[in-house]
Order: sequence, then structure tokens, then C-alpha cells
Amino acid sequence: MRWTHWIDGEARAAANGRWQPVFDPATGQAWGEVAAGDARDVDAAVDAARCAFPAWSTLPNSERAYWLDVLADALQARLEPFAEAESRDGGKPVRLAREVEIPRAVSNLRFFAHAATQFASESHHGQAGLNYTLRQPLGVVGTISPWNLPLYLFTWKIAPALAAGNTVVAKPSEVTPATATMLGALAAEIGFPKGVLNIVHGLGPDVGEPLVVHPRVKAISFTGSTAVGRRIAGLAGPLLKKVSLELGGKNPTLVFADSDWRASLDAIVRSAFQNSGQICLCGSRILVERSIHDEFRDALLARVQALRIGDPSDPATDVGPLVSQAHFDKVVAALERARAEGGRVLCGGSAIDRPGWYVAPTLIDGLGPECASNREEIFGPVATLQAFDDEAEALALANACDYGLAASVWTRDLDRAHRLAATLQAGIVWINCWLLRDLRTPFGGMGQSGLGREGGFEAMRFFTEARNVGIAIKEHRPQ
Ligand code: NAD
Repeated sequence: MRWTHWIDGEARAAANGRWQPVFDPATGQAWGEVAAGDARDVDAAVDAARCAFPAWSTLPNSERAYWLDVLADALQARLEPFAEAESRDGGKPVRLAREVEIPRAVSNLRFFAHAATQFASESHHGQAGLNYTLRQPLGVVGTISPWNLPLYLFTWKIAPALAAGNTVVAKPSEVTPATATMLGALAAEIGFPKGVLNIVHGLGPDVGEPLVVHPRVKAISFTGSTAVGRRIAGLAGPLLKKVSLELGGKNPTLVFADSDWRASLDAIVRSAFQNSGQICLCGSRILVERSIHDEFRDALLARVQALRIGDPSDPATDVGPLVSQAHFDKVVAALERARAEGGRVLCGGSAIDRPGWYVAPTLIDGLGPECASNREEIFGPVATLQAFDDEAEALALANACDYGLAASVWTRDLDRAHRLAATLQAGIVWINCWLLRDLRTPFGGMGQSGLGREGGFEAMRFFTEARNVGIAIKEHRPQ
């Protein structure tokens, strides 16, 4: 397999002729190669996007919506090959790709097709004449996405950018390039206007950075690690370039004794271990009220030990491998650090002896909030357990972390739920649920989890420039 760039509606190799291997995480073997682009490819893609901008940005909104809808239909019709490729590329259970991630990519395209026709701007009157605000597309924008939810997050960015009238240069993760490339091919196949959506592959420093600093790229929407987000902010800041940063998380799950926790165990296990814990929203710090701690721990342990670890292509598999050798090494090192910090491994705690990058689902207790294991993102199938005595201690433990992406609270006490929802350091709080998503809602984190919000009209606002127009209206007083 060879995954090329898609520039100006055409499949293209990197200008430098280089390719780099792409690995199947279930075997650790290369299963293809991807164009290893550089700044020359970024330049070509930006040129194509710039040429396409005048026509795309002046299409009636309903026609941009039409194209996004047609792309969504085409993707829906190819759901199975996309799900298989997503599973093979990232090692994610094919069931997850088939039932959640590719359908969600279709929804992203459809949702923002509707947003294109519904997005409106404000007018203000009565104080200083009549003011109306234009919301105009920015021009060429760049999107940079990670490997953990490859097509899901790729479409989450390109769809609002395109719906708002921008043309796009998108950089998928070099670790999982398959489905973005397939979407490029699908766009060409359905006759999507050329140059509107361009895809450039390559390493972050080789392609991501030239995209961030390119003078004709007006904004960057980035999802990935906090370290890279900081680097991008450092490059974009002096250029005064608009950036949206969706970064890491270390999310708490607060389980109170009054909750229906037995009935919620499946959801709590999913919240920690879905996609092998490689979701920014995973609840990797489980905080439990002391009065139920032992009973909860034992029940949780039984569920975690029952997770079926296996080949991602097997529909029965719950937990597949980690995405890459580098990430596997990072997670294994985090397990060693947890032991060195005094953590007690209740289950898992090591790699699994089989080909590929498998780590056993792991629960650890005995670690306090000051430990690196409870402060730094591990992004693997690893969760810690901590006990609390009351709501105040639960809140303190939950907020004892520099990240602030998401939290889930499990309680039947309505007052408590609302109190915590307003005081937890998190951009997203779920009460008695996890990963319940309404695409209209603001999505994003505070603290080290990022800057700005995506989702719904927040994304449409990010991808547009507001221009206010004020008109003096002479008072007319009847004589
Ligand atoms: P990463 O930061 O290593 O890479 C993300 C993307 O940035 C990739 O396309 C990569 O090639 C590119 N990149 C790397 N270095 C770059 C540079 N110097 N300049 C520009 N681009 C560069 O992240 P990852 O390992 O692919 O993804 C996992 C991380 O993403 C985790 O930290 C996870 O929490 C985070 N994440 C956050 C969200 C969210 O919505 N907040 C969602 C998913 C993942």
C-alpha cells in the first residue's frame, strides 16, 4: 500500500520522492508506506487552496452544504473498507471503527453541511445606529490531526472549515495516514471541487511546522499532544496567527456511594479502556468514595479482567494493541514509573507476550495526587484508583492536575452533580454518562488541555473573521 498526498484533486508523491513505513500495530510489521512530504508539498497545497478559494468561498452556502453531503453519502457507502483500514492502521477494534468512528466521520460531514446553511451573524441596533456583523471565511486554513481517532478528528476539523467557506490544507498523522488518503480519493471520485481540500502527509517538523508558519495560511486548528500544541503556539504567536489547540487530558471519574455504580460499571470501564485508553477523553483517574471503595474496586477489577484482548480485526475484540512502538515504549515506561512511585498493580501492569504492541488493561491503586502517574497523561489502557471521604476531597483530587479536558461524575444527588459541574476544572463534564456527544456543544479543554473550543457554531466562528459594519441612521422626528 502507498498513501500519497492529495493536492489540487490529484494523488501526488512527495516532491522529494521520499516515503516512510506505516506499521500494523497488531503485528508490528510495516503494511505500507506514506509520502514523507516537506515544505515544498505544503507550498504546492497552499497554492492549490489559494486558487480554489475565490470560487469556493463565493458559492452559496447551500452548495457548499451539498458537496459536504455528497462526500458524507460516498463515505457512508464505503463504510466497511474505511472501517477495516482504520482498524488495521491504528490497531483499533474493527467494531469500534465500524460502529462509532467512521459513522461519526459521516455525521461530522453531515452536521457541518447543515451548519453551513444555518450559520448566521448578529445585528445590534438602538444604541449606536445599526450594526451588523459579517462572518467571512479566512482564506486558506491548516488542520493538523492525531492518530488516535484518525478520520473522526480529521473530518471534525475539515468539515467546519469547508462549511464556513475556507479552503483547506490538512495534515493527518503520519502514524495513521490511510483513511484520510482514502477520503482524498473519494473526494476526487465524486468530483469535489479541486484544490478545496488538500492533504499533505509527513512528519510534524517537516510538514506541520511549514504549514503553521506559511504566510498564506490564516489559521491552524490542531489536535494532539500538549507538548506539540505548545510548540505550535510558540510558532503562531509571533505571527499573530489564529490557533485552536485541542490537547491532552488526565480526566477524573468521580464515583459516589449514592450512585447507581453497579449498573454503570460497563460505562466506567469503557471510559477508561475504550480504544486501549487512547482517547483524550478517557477517564484515567478513578476517584471512589471510601465507603464503597473495596466493593467497587473488586467489581471493577472483575470487569477489566474480562475484557477480550485480541486481534483488532476480530469483531469480538474489546482491546487491541497500542498504535506504535514509540507509544508502546512510553506506556511501558509509565507502568515502571507507577511501580517505582509505590503503586500497587491490581491487574495487568505489563506488555503482553505476543506480536504487536499489546499492553494488558491495568488498574493501579496506592498512588496519591502528587505522583506523576496521576498528573501526566499516559494515553494507554491504564487507570488509577484513589479513595475520597467527601465531596470536597473528591473535588480537590479531581482538580489536582494541570489538565482540564473532561470529567465524569457518578451520583444520584442532583445538587451535588450541579455543584461539581460548575467547579470541576474541565471543559466538558458528564453526569452519569461518558462520551455522550451532541455536536452542537462547545468541545475543548482548559489549563494544559488547550485553547479555544470546537463544535457547532464555535467551530464556524473560529473559521471565520468577524467584521462589524456600523451605519448611522438619522433620527426622523415628525414635526
Ligand atoms: P502529537 O502531538 O504527537 O501529533 C499530533 C499531530 O501533530 C500529528 O499530525 C503530528 O505529525 C503533528 N506534529 C507533530 N509535531 C509537530 C510540530 N512540531 N509542528 C506541527 N505539527 C506537528 O499527538 P499524537 O501522539 O498524534 O496524539 C495523541 C495526543 O493527542 C494525546 O496527547 C491526546 O490527548 C491528544 N488528543 C487530544 C484531543 C482533544 O480533543 N483534546 C483529541 C485527540 C487526541
